[in-house]
Amino acid sequence: MVAAAILRRTPGSLASAIRLHRTAAIATPIARFMSTHVTNAACEDNEPGFLGSVETFYDRAAKISGVSDKSLTAIKAVDAVLSVKFPVEIDADTHIIIEGYRAQHSRHRLPCKGGIRFSDEVDLQEVEALASLMTYKCAVVDVPFGGAKGGVKLNPKKFTPAQLERITRRYTMELCQKNFIGPGVDVPAPDVGTGPREMSWIMDTYRQFNPQDVNAAGCVTGKPISQGGVRGRNEATGLGVYYGVREFLQFPEVQKMTGLDGNIAGKTVIVQGFGNVGYWAAKFFQNNGAKIIGIGEHDVSAYDPNGIDVEAIFKHRAEKGTFRGFGNAEIIDGSIKVMERECDILIPAALERQIGLKNVKNIKAKIIGEAANGPITPDAHDYLVSQGKVVIPDLLLNAGGVTVSYFEWLKNLSHVRFGRMSRKWEEAGKSKLLTLVEENAGRQLTPQERRAVIHGAEEHELVYSGLEDTMIGACEETRATAALKNTDFRTAALVNAIQKISTVTTQSGQMFL
Ligand code: NAD
Repeated sequence: MVAAAILRRTPGSLASAIRLHRTAAIATPIARFMSTHVTNAACEDNEPGFLGSVETFYDRAAKISGVSDKSLTAIKAVDAVLSVKFPVEIDADTHIIIEGYRAQHSRHRLPCKGGIRFSDEVDLQEVEALASLMTYKCAVVDVPFGGAKGGVKLNPKKFTPAQLERITRRYTMELCQKNFIGPGVDVPAPDVGTGPREMSWIMDTYRQFNPQDVNAAGCVTGKPISQGGVRGRNEATGLGVYYGVREFLQFPEVQKMTGLDGNIAGKTVIVQGFGNVGYWAAKFFQNNGAKIIGIGEHDVSAYDPNGIDVEAIFKHRAEKGTFRGFGNAEIIDGSIKVMERECDILIPAALERQIGLKNVKNIKAKIIGEAANGPITPDAHDYLVSQGKVVIPDLLLNAGGVTVSYFEWLKNLSHVRFGRMSRKWEEAGKSKLLTLVEENAGRQLTPQERRAVIHGAEEHELVYSGLEDTMIGACEETRATAALKNTDFRTAALVNAIQKISTVTTQSGQMFL
């Protein structure tokens, strides 16, 4: 059996390396710039990779943040990286070696938090970039976690569910052994290629290794409800994207820049990536009156200026495996070209580096809402901003996922469904009040009217309410800093994140950074 792991810890600027070798040890090369064709297609060779882009955006914000150089250096560094290779039995005669990573960018607040990605694109620089973004994202929405991210290099479509289960459990075992998972240490969640099913396997495996941990359910979020998940997590990122764009549309400065009015209703929207985030974002935009005119997937895109029914195209793709043959929609190869069509709002919701110097000049949307992490390179971002377009940045716009993951984690630690203790009590109180009002007003409410007023919140309503409040607050804060610093919304969101993280690390004395 061959298995090896490298654990690299870089506390602040003091880089130290600890290597863990088991059985026949192999030194895994730390690949830094390995993005493949999917994440390179829109970019020129001289544009930075994903990690380089995140660092470029960070450096810009750092300069105007007013935070000391010492803190800025410490905040930027990726704290710890786990790199593993492990064998998995594919059938009776075959073992394959799987590569996996987990990066903890910051532990200024614990646990660390961030998704696990299953994709051919996964490499160490992608995981480090995503972990860094998670730290800044949590700070932007005041979620008290450090940032982390995990990745397993594989295409989940090429494996059976039983094989994926073995891989997921084996990867989780590595996380358990190296102390890279736990409700107070590091809490994964879904990302590209993973969902509630994988989160269930992760929790179950963690539980086997930690049978005494009463809070084991809090070791991972995005679980099915039956496994301790919270209602509303599935759709949270897409819903947060919708709330965020809705808020920005209402800002007078955004209306001035774009010439759009403040309503979602009637706006034309194109979405790239029709997975968890893209599907739910499209659905919320459509439910609130927007017209979805284009949806891009990895093979082809569907485009129809008269509007695409989100549920109908979802069912079509689930049955046929492609958008081809859907209604009257024009079918376009790939997903880059559809993003170049005329629309009000473009939502990249697939992968990083989808808008770069090769295609940015063709982007016609007035608002680009980054539902994916890192979809726009720094040079492309600057070009869009120079053209008066509004870019709502990933670390703000897709923070709905981690916000509701935070709610799920709280639910797991408190071991009780939100609203369970208070719902009936609140309904009884409101009912008494209504009776008094009825007596004084001399009019009885109809049973429907009474029910509508006294209705106590269900779990998903509380989650939606907490998410909406969080997104509104974070959008307002970003907007205020953009105005104060006379800068774009991405830099503003990063300035806010850096200042908040710096306050925590400085007030903690910084000894253990
Ligand atoms: P997912 O795996 O559910 O969906 C991704 C979709 O994009 C898939 O349908 C896939 O076929 C499609 N895709 C892949 N390559 C493509 C390409 N080149 N062009 C068009 N489509 C392509 O993943 P997801 O969870 O929806 O994540 C999407 C993005 O949102 C990622 O950047 C992820 O990091 C980010 N994100 C996800 C969450 C979350 O809660 N899931 C939270 C925050 C950010």
